[in-house]
Amino acid sequence: MYMKWKSLFEPIKIRELTLPNRVMMGSMHLGIEGVPEKEEAMISFYTERAGEYGPGLMVTGGISVSPEGDGGHHFLGFYREKDLTTMKRLTTRVHQAGGRIAAQLFHAGRYAYSELTGIPAVAPSPIRSPIHRETPTELTELDILNLLESYAEAGRKAKEVGFDAVEIMGSEGYLINQFMSPATNKRTDYWGGSFEKRTRFPLAVLNAVRKAVGDDYPIIYRLSGMDLVPNSTTHEETLAFAKLVEENDADVLNIGIGWHESTTPTISMMVPRAGFIQIALDIKEKVSIPVIGSNRINDPVLADDLLQQLDMVSMARPFLADPNLLHKSQAQSLDQINTCIACNQACLDHAFEGKAVSCLVNPRAGREYKWVYKKASERKKVLVVGGGVAGLESARAHAELGHSVVLYEASDSIGGQFNLARQIPIKKEFDETVRYYTTELKRLGVSISLNHKPSTEDLLNHSPDLVVIATGVVPRKPIIPGVEFAIPYPDVLSGRATVGKKVIIIGAGGIGCDLSHYLIERGDHEILMLRRNGRMGEGLGKTTKWAMLQDLKKHGVKFRTNLHYEEITEEGLVITDGETNNKEFLKADAVILAAGQESNLPQEYDRLTEKGIQVAVIGGARLAGELDAKRAIYEGAKIAFEPQSIPTTQR
Ligand code: FAD
Ligand code: NAP
Ligand code: SF4
Repeated sequence: MYMKWKSLFEPIKIRELTLPNRVMMGSMHLGIEGVPEKEEAMISFYTERAGEYGPGLMVTGGISVSPEGDGGHHFLGFYREKDLTTMKRLTTRVHQAGGRIAAQLFHAGRYAYSELTGIPAVAPSPIRSPIHRETPTELTELDILNLLESYAEAGRKAKEVGFDAVEIMGSEGYLINQFMSPATNKRTDYWGGSFEKRTRFPLAVLNAVRKAVGDDYPIIYRLSGMDLVPNSTTHEETLAFAKLVEENDADVLNIGIGWHESTTPTISMMVPRAGFIQIALDIKEKVSIPVIGSNRINDPVLADDLLQQLDMVSMARPFLADPNLLHKSQAQSLDQINTCIACNQACLDHAFEGKAVSCLVNPRAGREYKWVYKKASERKKVLVVGGGVAGLESARAHAELGHSVVLYEASDSIGGQFNLARQIPIKKEFDETVRYYTTELKRLGVSISLNHKPSTEDLLNHSPDLVVIATGVVPRKPIIPGVEFAIPYPDVLSGRATVGKKVIIIGAGGIGCDLSHYLIERGDHEILMLRRNGRMGEGLGKTTKWAMLQDLKKHGVKFRTNLHYEEITEEGLVITDGETNNKEFLKADAVILAAGQESNLPQEYDRLTEKGIQVAVIGGARLAGELDAKRAIYEGAKIAFEPQSIPTTQR
């Protein structure tokens, strides 16, 4: 498709800074900031995304302005001398690569963890967040004045170490937002009470930073367009505040949506693309400074459309998924873009678990410094057996590194389990991953053999240097009398089987939950999900599980655990309740099996090792337990970039 860009590549001037395009890479905490041995990883992450067709501006993850508001060990802090040296190296390298980078001035307020900072968390009022165990200490007036000085100092230092702009973090429920909101600011002094008083701290921060950085320096204010928490700032107040921010000399408004504690999903795959853009548009009507829209904008064509009404768009995770997103857009190679599928599994989930951030569809994110695209000195013949995401990524990465690759897939299409996952209404984005691999393998000259389960002889005939076994998983068929009356989940998702109104699902993991979503969308079902032990949706990511379960509950899906399966019949299921020890008959029109997966590792390929061929087994074929696409894709890439990691026992 040829795309005539209307606005995406239009430059925009903010004070003395000219951005070459209208896309900002929004702030993302990488989980490695401030860790000395990870400095190169952090700097390489940004430099990879700088360059001629990088985002117009990149914003760092939050950089703490003072110790009690710090995000923890893996954050940079303006108040730490050693971090300033790191920041200087970061900005120098980004500029050398041709990019521009802004520092985000951050204070967590009541979201800070004293076990990480060693200091009690502070807030305008001593009100605990529902997602926190700790009640913050109320700031004194003197503390507030000192904090203003910390913000000013942070702005000064940001400019000194070479950042091109600063972004004041005034959204997502952090300190500044806590001052703004009547839900968290119950002060009765100068800094709390009426709308006017609640805006004093945010505006004082803005003025302090402006004074510190001078008139020529760009300040972006990240404003909470919608808090999505009870009894908080109203829409009218938000609009009025946006005007005040403009009047107090901010240059750009970047519109954030929702607080961390909000129970409304704001960026997960349940949120439609650009689902919250109206908020930014409402604000745009009230101000004359540039407004940046954000949240679930993962497609340059959509971004270009939005730019007809907004000045800039913020895309954060899409640059984790594909550092070359804009380069590919400029080159009209949209099919080659590795699209962010909004799964949160390797980015936000990692950040919340204190792990280094990466990306499910691009495990190279955060590893750019060691997984370098350099043609291999020796061109290997690589055969990949299995076209699920593990095999696809392995084929892609090997080919990108200059190896000759043949991929075999037993079915008539590539994608493996992703072809089932993409049937789930909220997982339509998975289509993009299959599209990406389809175009990439073609571009890289990977030979794909469909409907082909190669025999060992087929493989040996190619005299391969490496055979990658990525034959994935098969659904588990549990040993329950009458199991033949049950329907395996792939039959339902692929449309081969239809189910009646009353449905029982055996298994309540990720796939059981997805299956419920699928059935909910298709009509009027009464769904009962069962597990022998444990909780519903176990194994799902922290940042998405709650929303998934909330949605199932809302649609009346029932759940039972602590039970034993006795027998499946044509009319339903007999169980024994673990608590009462009573047998029960649960009537159902259909019993569906979503009872986990087992490895599919054909034994015949064992002979390859006997013949001295190097073999790597990856993804579900290696281990079905705790398999997900994140691990499958990571393993596919890892053996290409780190061939030495292939265990010698597999050779
Ligand atoms: P598979 O996808 O099983 O691929 C194996 C491929 O090998 C298949 O195409 C198969 O046909 C082929 N094959 C088998 N034997 C041979 C042979 N002898 N020769 C040639 N080809 C062969 N994971 C997540 O991380 N997040 C999610 O949100 C998520 N949602 C999911 C939703 C659903 C409904 C489902 C079913 C799965 C979901 N998953 C999710 C799991 C994820 O899709 C899998 O973990 C991942 O795709 C496994 O990849 P794989 O390549 O190891 O195996
Ligand atoms: P899973 O999450 O491990 O769940 C398997 C379910 O099957 C469990 O509820 C388990 O419950 C049940 N089970 C296991 N052995 C059984 C047996 N012998 N008899 C009866 N029931 C049995 O696996 P999955 O749902 O198949 O998902 C596969 C992978 O894809 C997982 O890693 C999952 O995280 C990933 N995935 C992720 C998402 C996502 O949105 N992030 C979505 C879908 C899938 P009991 O053992 O208690 O009975
Ligand atoms: Fe997007 Fe998922 Fe990658 Fe995060 S891990 S950037 S949500 S594709």
